[in-house]
Amino acid sequence: MYIDGQWTQGESGATFAVTNPATGEVIDRVPDGGAADAAAAIAAAEAAFADWSRTTAYQRSAYLYRAWQIMTERAEDLARTMSTEQGKPLKAARNEVKYGADFLLWYAEEAKRVYGETIPAPRGDQRFIVLKQAVGVVAAVTPWNYPISMITRKVGPALAAGCTVVLKPAEATPLCAVEMFKVFHDAGLPKGVVNLVTASDPKPIGEEFVSNPLVRKITFTGSTPVGKMLASRAAAQMKRVSLELGGHAPFIVFDDADAEHAAKGASLVKFLNTGQACISPNRFFVHRSKVDQFQDVFATRVARMKAGSGLEDGVQIGPLVNEAAVAKVEDQVNDAVAKGATAVTGGRRLTEGALAKGHFFAPTLLAGVTPEMKIYREETFGPVAPVIPFDDEAEVMAMANDTTYGLAAYVYTRDIGRAWRAMEALRFGIVGINDINPTAAAAPFGGMKESGLGREGGHEGIDEYLETKLAGFSV
Ligand code: ADP
Repeated sequence: MYIDGQWTQGESGATFAVTNPATGEVIDRVPDGGAADAAAAIAAAEAAFADWSRTTAYQRSAYLYRAWQIMTERAEDLARTMSTEQGKPLKAARNEVKYGADFLLWYAEEAKRVYGETIPAPRGDQRFIVLKQAVGVVAAVTPWNYPISMITRKVGPALAAGCTVVLKPAEATPLCAVEMFKVFHDAGLPKGVVNLVTASDPKPIGEEFVSNPLVRKITFTGSTPVGKMLASRAAAQMKRVSLELGGHAPFIVFDDADAEHAAKGASLVKFLNTGQACISPNRFFVHRSKVDQFQDVFATRVARMKAGSGLEDGVQIGPLVNEAAVAKVEDQVNDAVAKGATAVTGGRRLTEGALAKGHFFAPTLLAGVTPEMKIYREETFGPVAPVIPFDDEAEVMAMANDTTYGLAAYVYTRDIGRAWRAMEALRFGIVGINDINPTAAAAPFGGMKESGLGREGGHEGIDEYLETKLAGFSV
């Protein structure tokens, strides 16, 4: 753990094992923190806040820029740590490190653009000015599926705004967090500005985050139930919250779309991170006239995909995070097949040879999925693409929006009017139009409905760490 500028074993000195999900091997051990460690980290962040929030935007920018440089120099090592600990193919890990580094560079720049305002006042002898100030100590909780970029997407804007941070990474991926905090340490950040608490049990840390009055902001990426719990507890002290939660993204292919292009895009985006992404397409609504073509192209591409350890050459399908994840995917697939769906390809666990030691599920295309099936409503978080045929635009918009989630949606059409109508009608925070990757550090990322609150990235991302203060002067 890293508290007040020191590497520490924590109060108890206990550790927990980190395993490789492709092989089941223990790769390292990290300190197993508890509430006392979280409290010490929060106290250090509070002590550092006064000086850090008074540094100039140029100074904070320089620290972030230095961290970006170091992260870029260490990109290959970071990517290998990620593949080993999290399982994603090395190429995908390299992409994530680059995406993660982009947040440090972007917020090094945005730090200098935290502008205020002057407002015409009602009295002649009065002046109004509005300024933006750091909210205070930020408690951040990050997930295992994007174990590096979810750290920089929070720490980058928080530091740029003048906040100090205590971060708890997911128990499955603490090593990525340790490597990132080495980057922050080597960038020379003053002690207490960033703090890391690793733990095998998130509950006591979460409890300290929501109950400690020094924490003024909670930023969380993870599942919807945990996000709701943290938000409701944070409300007791009116802490600010930002939440990036689950999704159930529709992927809509209209009759005027290039179905082959859509199927290629679908097969690429669906299996990124083995489907373990909150913006992963979960429901493929394909116009009835295009279903056969879409499924043929998709299945042909899936048949060529290789599963295995992320460090092996040519692997596109890494392991799922653990046995529970495989069991959930298997349950959704079995339920759908029992209710009449067909597994055109895949549909089972992968246990051949070395795969038996890891948590692998075959990339799967399910045809003929209907609303009665679990997979129609539940977030999947695995390598399964359910295809649901549709007949007209109004019907598919209603089906796409018929979910409590509202994070990402994808639309394939060549009709500009239809693209525009769909973009407006879809109640999702991110819409890809003939595009499978509508994300970047410079763009706002976040969900509507039960997919979350607030936005990360873009110029909006820094607002989440700023308070607005009004000063009225008599002159
Ligand atoms: P997933 O199901 O994707 O693992 P979680 O929401 O359980 O999603 O995990 C996301 C992050 O939330 C992880 O860092 C995890 O440790 C953390 N987390 C889970 N439960 C709690 C809790 N009660 N308090 C604080 N953090 C939690």
